[in-house]
Amino acid sequence: MASVQLEQVRKVYPNGFVGVAGATFEIGDGELLVLVGPSGCGKSTLLRMIAGLETISAGTLRIGGRVVNEVAPKDRDIAMVFQSYALYPHMSVAENLAFGLKLRSHDKAAIAARVAEAAKTLELDALLDRKPAALSGGQRQRVALGRALVRQPQVFLLDEPLSNLDAKLRASTRVEISRLHRKLGTTMVYVTHDQVEAMTLGQRIVVLDKGEIQQIDTPMALYEQPANLFVATFLGSPKMNLLFGPLREDGDGGLRLRIAEGVELPLRPDAAMRAALQPYVGRELTVGLRPEDMHLSHEGDVGRLPAKVETVEPVGSEAYINLGCGGCDLVVRLPPYNLPQVGQTVHLGYEAERMHFFDSASGKRLLP
Ligand code: ADP
Repeated sequence: MASVQLEQVRKVYPNGFVGVAGATFEIGDGELLVLVGPSGCGKSTLLRMIAGLETISAGTLRIGGRVVNEVAPKDRDIAMVFQSYALYPHMSVAENLAFGLKLRSHDKAAIAARVAEAAKTLELDALLDRKPAALSGGQRQRVALGRALVRQPQVFLLDEPLSNLDAKLRASTRVEISRLHRKLGTTMVYVTHDQVEAMTLGQRIVVLDKGEIQQIDTPMALYEQPANLFVATFLGSPKMNLLFGPLREDGDGGLRLRIAEGVELPLRPDAAMRAALQPYVGRELTVGLRPEDMHLSHEGDVGRLPAKVETVEPVGSEAYINLGCGGCDLVVRLPPYNLPQVGQTVHLGYEAERMHFFDSASGKRLLP
């Protein structure tokens, strides 16, 4: 096992396009770290540089403390699993598992032992004689994982390994990968565009956008304290609601966000946040509230936002209510009973202490 360290690792493609703008972070020994971001954000580029499949334009990459910028992929002691598992169709599962080891001229007995061990770990024992055509998508992906496993690498690199599976299989294979990681304790770097995969699998997550790291933290820390509007709206489904407008003092020392003519959101910041908000008086501010932190208003709510119900989407365990409020589109998660009607005007309450504050221009989070 080994840690992976990146120091200002940068990728500029031959056409001048900056794929990764300079990444600095460390993947701990035995850690499962997820790289997540929208399509084109540079996550595969980053993974491929770690694998050695892409040259590094600048910066330093270390695996297990050794600088590997110029080391060939086969000598980096890594194994990679791709989205398209590309098994050899004419070979059995056992032969597919053994193939990479044969190329590396391990002796027969050692190969057989490793194949047996990987098959046991991934519950492929009963399938060893089958050809890939006779396997389900999930089983094929398990064979692809097995091919990486038999190599006993220091680091596993996984590039969207579940994207070709249907939703149900994705969920179960995700659990399997998590279990596999706990069992092996091997360092893993996992690339996905799927925020649910990132949140459920990652011990820590690196969020990327346009080749730049936006934030690195544990899943819940990212969810609770997103560093900017990009992270705030990328993680979470439905997305975080954003309310924006100029901030004003209400005369009693309180602050209000003016969302539209006659629609104001009273803010109840603590002392530290009150100080951080002071420079925004008279300027535009963005307030974030997650859909689960809003509700249909009841007696005793301090702020009551008028909003018009646009759609009601029951999903079984809960319902998503889409509303319009002074030019802002909002989504509220509610229990799936006593739901409002489309077209109805309702009043929304919210958890004032769960508000997130962002600078509208830079998108940066204000304290904390
Ligand atoms: P992701 O994996 O996050 O979807 P990639 O790492 O594959 O994104 O690509 C990051 C960006 O680099 C994309 O905008 C992509 O178009 C660009 N890119 C990838 N390969 C090349 C290349 N060979 N030449 C120029 N640009 C490239």
